[in-house]
Amino acid sequence: MAEQRSRLLPRRLGSNWIVMASSHVAVGVAAWTWTAPHLGLSSLNPEGLVLAAVGALLPDIDHPGSWVGRRLSLISVPLAAMLGHRGVTHSLVAVLACMAFLRWEGLSNSVVAPLVIGYLSHLGADLLTTNGLRLAWPSSKRHSIGVCRTGSVTESVIVAGVALAAGINMMHIHQAFGP
Ligand SMILES: [Zn+2]
Repeated sequence: MAEQRSRLLPRRLGSNWIVMASSHVAVGVAAWTWTAPHLGLSSLNPEGLVLAAVGALLPDIDHPGSWVGRRLSLISVPLAAMLGHRGVTHSLVAVLACMAFLRWEGLSNSVVAPLVIGYLSHLGADLLTTNGLRLAWPSSKRHSIGVCRTGSVTESVIVAGVALAAGINMMHIHQAFGP
């Protein structure tokens, strides 16, 4: 098991994964601030922001070295061994399954929506990378917009731009509706 685990761990353990996790959180929170008003929900509600951040981290549970994978290794290690990284958890199948499960659990739209938007934001961000995603898993076809490489300067610039735009958007909402 230890051997298998070490084989599955990424070459770039540590700070890179923390940066990637923060990037996904920034994009997830940004996506939520833009979509929440269209769903009739507040984009400034702290619970929604936290749930969007959680949703944005969840897809990388298929990698034992990711921020979330390291904390939930009981799930991430077997998942990576069976299905690999950027497999089922990075597909639309996972989004639909999560939505169905959360609804079945009786959770309200104010919980399900930010989780799903955060999750979708992760897939959207990964789609921008040259590695791409198997969105239609189990199909092996990879989808990619391919504007940057994972961990590249271009990726950091895109994330910073999205985070800045989201920050400005939140300031406008805050000014319009008050604290
Ligand atoms: Zn990912």
